[in-house]
Amino acid sequence: MFVDKAVIKIKAGDGGDGAVSFHREKYVAAGGPDGGDGGKGGDIIFVADDSLSTLIDFRYKRKFFAQKGENGGAKNCTGKNAPDLVVKVPRGTVVREAATGRVMADMSSDEPKIIAKGGRGGKGNARFATPTRQIPRFSKPGFCGEEFEVTLELKLLADVGLVGFPNVGKSTLISVVSAAKPKIANYHFTTLTPVLGVVKIDEGKSFVMADIPGLIEGASEGVGLGHEFLRHVDRCRLIVHVVDVSGSEGRDPCEDYEIINRELAAFSEDLANRPQILAANKCDMANEEQLDHFRKFAAEKGIRLFEISAATTQGTAELINAVFTELEKLPPIKEYEVEAPIIVRDDNIGNGQRFEITRGDDAVFYVEAPWLEHIMRTVDMDDYSSLQYFQTVLRNSGIIARLEEMGIEEGDTVNIFGFEFDFVF
Ligand code: GDP
Ligand code: MG
Repeated sequence: MFVDKAVIKIKAGDGGDGAVSFHREKYVAAGGPDGGDGGKGGDIIFVADDSLSTLIDFRYKRKFFAQKGENGGAKNCTGKNAPDLVVKVPRGTVVREAATGRVMADMSSDEPKIIAKGGRGGKGNARFATPTRQIPRFSKPGFCGEEFEVTLELKLLADVGLVGFPNVGKSTLISVVSAAKPKIANYHFTTLTPVLGVVKIDEGKSFVMADIPGLIEGASEGVGLGHEFLRHVDRCRLIVHVVDVSGSEGRDPCEDYEIINRELAAFSEDLANRPQILAANKCDMANEEQLDHFRKFAAEKGIRLFEISAATTQGTAELINAVFTELEKLPPIKEYEVEAPIIVRDDNIGNGQRFEITRGDDAVFYVEAPWLEHIMRTVDMDDYSSLQYFQTVLRNSGIIARLEEMGIEEGDTVNIFGFEFDFVF
């Protein structure tokens, strides 16, 4: 079965937690803190794999979770980083965030792409020792790994797409100009899956041709198979529009040509404006009158016409050469640009939330608020806008007001879930 769309869940690994530990040795009374940092959680990495041609595997496996980083240990042992999780997809797969539709990656090149980043490890207590606080009894938890629902969409990478009604001879054409061997038969919709073929002109001169299942009238409204597959023509730089000039099925090739173009336009304007070359196939079966009629039509429209017979290969070499020459003038295959995440932030976050603050023997203000944990684990404190967001949360919830009531002063230490910072007004 040809599957070219899938929705999967991915979650990168959380970072390992930092350790709380104190150095112990015989005959040494009180050792210093020696809790190590947690390891990094595994990333989710996508790679294009040419041995895959559909997204069918994602029908059966829809969840990809990378492992958590190892927790830190005693004796300043840093936890091991978790291994990355590699997800193989067919080349040409476009990855989007399901919630927003933004493009996260276009898996067209060989370059592996990190789709979800693993969380950083938390710092162990050894990191928090200062001259004024020699026995830090806390460490920092690991950060959460990124988590997304993503849609995968296979958009084949071909220079040229063959379009036309069923049975006009598209599969026959690709089979005589390339090594591709699609099913050929005298009934509609023999081609149920797109087929790619490499067309070699000369040493080092080649292009990729795609045989797309036949379009029929109404395809853009979901009739037949056509519309579903039009997305595979989406990236093609050039369209070879094939018609049956002999009218062997009782249709008029001029009308066919117009109908198909309307279908392309209904799918996307962009596709309607794609450069086209017209191939009048089954010339071996056409009579002079039919040929003349179609030649006039093409001339009136001002389109370049190639008279061919895929069955006898008459004229196919000329067509292929013209396609190659045309491709040389056209820009390379379209790649989807990655779009930055849209960060929606709730300005009321933290309003009315409960918390408790106690002051420890070490003079540190310990804030306890379970709802804050998730925010703490996802907000990157090294990033200015994240930090501002975090401050909004603290202000909205009333944590800052309470700290002030408790007499906090500039430079005092506040501890939330092991994360420490200096208070500044
Ligand atoms: P597709 O549906 O467009 O892929 O068409 P196919 O390639 O499957 O061809 C449909 C039928 O037309 C098959 O029986 C082919 O053998 C026949 N056919 C294809 N090209 C030619 C041609 O140039 N001349 C003749 N006489 N028959 C052809
Ligand atoms: Mg076919």
